[in-house]
Amino acid sequence: MRKLVLFVLILASAASVLQPALAYVLTGAKWPSPATSMYVSLGAPWDDAFITAMNRWNQSTPFQFAFAPQSWDPCSNPNNPPRHNGVKFSDTLCGDSFGNSTLAVTETWTMGGSTIVQAGILFNTKYTWDVYDGPWGTGTYAGKSDFRRVAVHELGHVMGLDHEDSVPAIMATAVSTGSVIVAPQPDDIAGINAMYGSGTPVPGSPTANTYHVFPQFADGRAGDGSYYRTTLMVSNPSSTAASNCTFQLYGLTVNGQGTYTFTFAGSGWTILPINSDQTLQSGYATLQCSAPVEAQLLYSFYSAAGTKVSEATVFSSPPAGMLQVLGDNRGGSQIAIAIANDSNAATPYTITAFDNAGNQVGSVTRTLS
Ligand SMILES: [Zn+2]
Repeated sequence: MRKLVLFVLILASAASVLQPALAYVLTGAKWPSPATSMYVSLGAPWDDAFITAMNRWNQSTPFQFAFAPQSWDPCSNPNNPPRHNGVKFSDTLCGDSFGNSTLAVTETWTMGGSTIVQAGILFNTKYTWDVYDGPWGTGTYAGKSDFRRVAVHELGHVMGLDHEDSVPAIMATAVSTGSVIVAPQPDDIAGINAMYGSGTPVPGSPTANTYHVFPQFADGRAGDGSYYRTTLMVSNPSSTAASNCTFQLYGLTVNGQGTYTFTFAGSGWTILPINSDQTLQSGYATLQCSAPVEAQLLYSFYSAAGTKVSEATVFSSPPAGMLQVLGDNRGGSQIAIAIANDSNAATPYTITAFDNAGNQVGSVTRTLS
């Protein structure tokens, strides 16, 4: 099905109307998932303006537009794949007339009438285009159409919104001289949320935890001037749940500090380089959070001259009574194992090595206070 949704230019003020709470209008068709790419290569200043228009939706709704810097004809037939969402300036509507007062048109192709498979946007070259956020078509912009807010409107059609004239909306049928609506309004956003759900869906993260133990943490200079730095990296995989975290050092402090607290908003993250010029200290660290987070340490070793000699990612260790790690001694490689006793009771630990035939080749036991 080919469906045309028109954006009509009317140079008149809109009458004031009563405003119902929610009034958005949906076309009845939507994308199978809240994301698609727009193929845009129109040159300056249009590409940047189009990206900003996409971001005005991306930042306020769960739908995410991606920018593909490639020219694609919005009149291309989706029955002849590949299917892409093209954008162009044109003096015709894919060969037909634009009509008298049409600024731009979004063509949407659906499958079964309900699933959008392709959309294309055509901007009418009959109009003089510019990019601005001020009142529509007044002052220095008299006679000029703002490409960016029209792109925001057309992108609303791409997602499946229809026109809405009973409340302030970027999806208004017409834009009036002096209008200052340049971005999605609450009603527009409610319409997208109704179609695609509120809150950005993120993939699940089976490795996120509320408690992390890092068996090795080091900071400071050794006697020969070489030094260790450790960087804590944390991200919150939830887009909605905040997480309050406490990072605690054991067996060492950094500049006298042993406890660090953070609050991560949804999707929040931090990279905290912890380093000082203190005498080398080492110990272990824990991270306790109110909601699951991903966390790791970056463990860096520098020469006295400040050249980075080696670096390793230290993943948090699952608290466990027994762990198995794999080793490879080809080329003389060695394995270093750090064990932290994250309890108050002295506990013996045994490391047993087996060769690749399963034969025990060594064993050592230590008691950690
Ligand atoms: Zn429209």
